[in-house]
Amino acid sequence: MGTLIESNAVKTCIGKLSHNADLLEELNAFCTAHNITHGWIHALGAVKKVRLAYYDQKKQVYRFFTLHRRLEITSLTGNVSLKDGKPMVHAHITLADRKGNAFGGHLAEGTIVFACEVCIQVFQGEALKRGFDKTTGLPLWEMRDER
Ligand code: ZN
Repeated sequence: MGTLIESNAVKTCIGKLSHNADLLEELNAFCTAHNITHGWIHALGAVKKVRLAYYDQKKQVYRFFTLHRRLEITSLTGNVSLKDGKPMVHAHITLADRKGNAFGGHLAEGTIVFACEVCIQVFQGEALKRGFDKTTGLPLWEMRDER
């Protein structure tokens, strides 16, 4: 069985990202600047290009790819936790083209914002920390009962 902890949202931050910003870098910079270490992110908007990753579960490596297309962000969902003592945003994104075709994956640096509206729910309490998980090869959350 998985593990859940209780967290209470203490505030919600709403804003927009800069035109031509790197989407993931700006989310990370925003969390660092506002000392957000534990939270959940939602966003929508549009990008000029997108760089995504797909995790190859057998080889345990990320496969990165770039779409040089102007696309709508139909949904971005992600979270903020600590990795190596710093806030780290982990986000997945779904985008659509002019015909409604969808693309998606793990958001990587190299995605350029056309416009993006963001909402971050900030939680109180001890921040979740990421550590290497041998089973998946990923930096997953270390839950209290696993430490
Ligand atoms: Zn991911």
